[in-house]
Amino acid sequence: MVEIKIGGIKEASTIDYPGEMVSVIFFCQCPFRCPFCQNWSLVQGNDCDSVPVQEIMKQLDKYRKYITGICITGGEPTVQIDGLFELLSETHNRGLLNKLDTNGFYPERIKKLLSSKLLNYVAIDIKAPFSPERYGKVIGNISIGEKAVKNVSETLQLLLQFGIPFETRTTIIPTFNDQLQEIEQIAKRLNELHVSRYILQQFRASGGTLDKSFAKLPATKPEVLRELAKLAKKYISDVRIRTIEAGEEKIEIKEAR
Ligand code: SF4
Repeated sequence: MVEIKIGGIKEASTIDYPGEMVSVIFFCQCPFRCPFCQNWSLVQGNDCDSVPVQEIMKQLDKYRKYITGICITGGEPTVQIDGLFELLSETHNRGLLNKLDTNGFYPERIKKLLSSKLLNYVAIDIKAPFSPERYGKVIGNISIGEKAVKNVSETLQLLLQFGIPFETRTTIIPTFNDQLQEIEQIAKRLNELHVSRYILQQFRASGGTLDKSFAKLPATKPEVLRELAKLAKKYISDVRIRTIEAGEEKIEIKEAR
């Protein structure tokens, strides 16, 4: 029986899948080491348990009356592809919608899930402009920067090719990646790839961070996100920001008369 290392299951959430009430399953492990990572305990494997897929399903069956789907997050869920595949097959067979949060580092694994029609929605992180050095620095591992850029691009192309709904998203960390130029570079590249939805997310270090020095940074101000989002909107049709203060906000640019 396949087991998955998980950090826990959140019974119900309305913010982890657009328009749906879902249970959230937190997968452990990740190939990246983003210094600002707020799920560092999953990445390091602290407080993780190996749980058989059938046990997770028993838990989800208890919530079945009020959830319409699940969100698999992490860590990077595709690290444990066998368990992920089995779990998504089970939930799909029960008529639940499957959302996956991913850093896009394993395109072949995503392809396997897409080919089997196991995904209904994907959120993919775009950590930095698509330059190997910058990407490697932001993910905390310079040696895999080039591979990350190549693989994330490949994953984006697969998502477009399979035609399933997806969002790209960047977490904006004060003084680290909140420069206009940086976001403009990302938005330009996403536009070239024909990506239509981009979300800028607020950083909050409330639960600590992988690199402890990042825990001292303040939360990203909504007005900073709005300014960056307005710039991104020049290149991408659907741009939003996500904050604790206001939830999700779609950016509209009023035409001058
Ligand atoms: S923020 Fe980075 S290190 Fe943390 S889970 Fe996401 S990809 Fe992995």
